[in-house]
Amino acid sequence: MLLLLTLLPWPARAGDATLDWRTIDTPNFQLHYPVGLDAVAYRAARLCEEAHRVLSPYFARRATQRVQVVLTDFGDSANGSASALPYPHINLFAAPPKLDGNLNDYDDWLRLLVFHEYVHILQLDQTRGLPALINALFGGIIAPNQNLPSFTLEGGAVWLESATSARGRIHSAIFRGFLRVHALAGALYDIDAITHVPLTWPGANVWYMYGGHFIDWIARTRGEQVMGRVHDAMADDVIPSRSTARCSRPPARPSPRSTPSGRPRRSPGPRPSATPSRPRA
Ligand SMILES: [Zn+2]
Repeated sequence: MLLLLTLLPWPARAGDATLDWRTIDTPNFQLHYPVGLDAVAYRAARLCEEAHRVLSPYFARRATQRVQVVLTDFGDSANGSASALPYPHINLFAAPPKLDGNLNDYDDWLRLLVFHEYVHILQLDQTRGLPALINALFGGIIAPNQNLPSFTLEGGAVWLESATSARGRIHSAIFRGFLRVHALAGALYDIDAITHVPLTWPGANVWYMYGGHFIDWIARTRGEQVMGRVHDAMADDVIPSRSTARCSRPPARPSPRSTPSGRPRRSPGPRPSATPSRPRA
């Protein structure tokens, strides 16, 4: 009898099956949310369009289709995620950051979250040539920029969340303090360690901490369009090892063309250094 019961069909369920879902349509997004989160959802939808307007000029091409956004409130974790496969989509958690964590340096936590995740869409949803043809024929199955090291992807998102707001993790005193401790202790991680996940503190946070300041340095010394050109160069790449070789080449010096306009940039203050006299922050 028990065996027969296990064979009965049951509806598939994930999360809270009692939620009543709604969708907000905007020109470039569809935002799905459960009833009760209406106020946050409408604000997030407006922020998505703002992110599209402000961030797209940093990249060679815009998202290939409307981005699907799911807003949920299942816990207290301040987080989100984004992927270009099988279609561009973002998950947003409707929870503000803790004040004692490394996400605590924000002017508008929802704006920062939306902007950070949309940067990932613009980084990953860049395809041309053979990858674009494959995706057109078989659906979204290949995203060459996904092969970039996580510290470049997260670093780029941390850089742009900060460059287009008054705060963000580049300006975070906690992040700069953590980096300063590593520098003063002579314990800065090498690129091989931050390409993966160090077994010691701060673990995967090096992608955001080291990566953010690394990309910020590239943008300041080589121009704000450089990362967009890197992602464009990767867009037709179907061999991951070739991607690494491309990234090892030094980027070109900035061109005199105008830079994209976001919010006014806030001075990030003193720059990191490996020496005690110029402490890394
Ligand atoms: Zn991220």
